[in-house]
Amino acid sequence: MDEAERKMRFVFAIRSKGVTDDRVLKAMESIDRGAFVRGLFAERAYEDMPLPISCGQTISQPSVVGLMTQALELTGREKVLEIGTGSGYQAAVLSRLARRVYTVERYRRLVAEARETLAALDLVNITVVHGDGSRGLPDQAPFDRIILTAAAEDPPGPLLAQLRIGGIMVAPVGQSDTVQSLIRVRRNETGFDYEELRAVRFVPLVEGLGAE
Ligand code: SAH
Repeated sequence: MDEAERKMRFVFAIRSKGVTDDRVLKAMESIDRGAFVRGLFAERAYEDMPLPISCGQTISQPSVVGLMTQALELTGREKVLEIGTGSGYQAAVLSRLARRVYTVERYRRLVAEARETLAALDLVNITVVHGDGSRGLPDQAPFDRIILTAAAEDPPGPLLAQLRIGGIMVAPVGQSDTVQSLIRVRRNETGFDYEELRAVRFVPLVEGLGAE
């Protein structure tokens, strides 16, 4: 299969799972997921499935990346915060649709690998921060959009507080390690509106820094 056909199939698979926003599909077509998957699993990078990355973590399923990106309703002007850099793939997709992306990861090793991958792709509007994302990134707050790619029992208070009025947060929440609900939160003048989008499965949000 040549590269053009591989890309076409990749985009087709994502679209058939409900990613219908053309801007999101274009952004995903332009970012080579193969650059974010190292070692044994690299050849499966164009399949619509989550794959293992360093530190026992996972790169999300492409269709889920697409659905979460779509749910953020980006226009190109936003300052976005992602919690859970992992491979850096979701951040790369966001960087094509927003003004600036900050992404926080608790494992130093993943931070180093993601920085390397993103620099090789010349994606210069992303800042990868080593830290505990459950506290958000107070120095850069407020954010127009916040996306969590690790599951918490409830949307963390510090993150809600760092969302601008009119802003949107998308996050997997729930008590179970095996299935959570993807929720969208909109901040208005007086509070927050919550909406449940679908069932998802993410690795847990863990407080503190990682061992590696
Ligand atoms: N968005 C990633 C996939 C993330 S997997 C991608 O596109 O590849 C979830 C990531 O969240 C893991 O790398 C995990 O280490 C990280 N994580 C979990 N708890 C965290 C926390 N409190 N702060 C920052 N990162 C966290």
